[in-house]
Amino acid sequence: MAKRQLTRRQAWRIDKIQNERASRAAKRENQAQESLEGGDLGPEQHGLIIAHFGVQVEVEALEGELAGNVFRCYLRANLPTLVTGDRVVWRAGHQSDGVIVAQLPRHSELCRPDARGQLKPVAGNVDQIVIVFAPAPEPHANLIDRYLVAAEHAGIRPLLLLNKADLIDDTNGPALHVLLKSYRELGYPLLEVSAHQGDGMKTLKTRLDRHTSVFVGQSGVGKSSLVNSLLDVGTRVGELSHWSGQGQHTTTTARLYHFPEGGDLIDSPGIREFGLVHVSRDDVEAGFIEFAPLLGRCRFRDCQHDREPGCALLEALEAGRIQPQRMASYRSIIASLPKNEY
Ligand code: GDP
Ligand code: ZN
Repeated sequence: MAKRQLTRRQAWRIDKIQNERASRAAKRENQAQESLEGGDLGPEQHGLIIAHFGVQVEVEALEGELAGNVFRCYLRANLPTLVTGDRVVWRAGHQSDGVIVAQLPRHSELCRPDARGQLKPVAGNVDQIVIVFAPAPEPHANLIDRYLVAAEHAGIRPLLLLNKADLIDDTNGPALHVLLKSYRELGYPLLEVSAHQGDGMKTLKTRLDRHTSVFVGQSGVGKSSLVNSLLDVGTRVGELSHWSGQGQHTTTTARLYHFPEGGDLIDSPGIREFGLVHVSRDDVEAGFIEFAPLLGRCRFRDCQHDREPGCALLEALEAGRIQPQRMASYRSIIASLPKNEY
């Protein structure tokens, strides 16, 4: 492409035009909200937030005649931060729009640090974290354990999913087998699938039914492939054509989709990388479920489970009741925490 330097005057004109556009859009939005609030709104009813655009959210109606329809809603100023997956009380306007009146309690939330490092919720009411790994890129128990700790910390049940099962061979098979066995022994649910084919996908579908799931895992393990294969593109909710193309609303933090065979997915690039943020040493300990019966049983209250005498964890490790790989993961996660969180 030929490079063309804008003159300062041209750059100034472009800036001016864009600022004018933005302020016209903001004004339109205020007017729309005022007229909506001034007009007769429908009765209060329950809805589900399926996408978030900053000043507005998309709400799927959950009740009555409107159920399944999507409305672009304004937020009353007194509301807490709402996120995709939140259930709300809202009132419909007349043109696929409406106003959110209240937030219903969340039973779980996924948080991520924002640009300033502040922890912000990005999805609500998720009840299953699908941790995806594959023969390639080579899986690391340490990374899987980090996701498991994050899931335990959020109080959301994990499902371990080995994708690309078709790539298991004599070379990678033995190590994978050891890895899978270790998680089965811990009691974590585990599925083996291939995004492109097979019975595994059928089983996966039944495991997604009646849950709100997120897919997490290293890049390249096949999350997009799985999601595309699970979502029937024709039934995606919320792709509202008459709103798309309005530049100011294009960034969304997370979107909720319904799986055609039941269950919901909340997905965004940020959520796919959801990992360990802001956890304390205690949180990490609590995230290793096999430690639970041993915690508080060390001789020293502030035991670091390093080389202290009378350490219940080290004794369990010695006796083979804690897997060496898990202990190594635990230590590496603790070592990666910011020092003031110890
Ligand atoms: P993501 O980064 O986790 O979203 O991974 P992608 O979905 O982009 O997949 C990465 C690569 O793995 C792509 O080339 C896919 O075609 C491939 N892939 C995904 N699932 C499978 C599978 O089940 N078997 C095989 N052989 N390849 C797969
Ligand atoms: Zn100890």
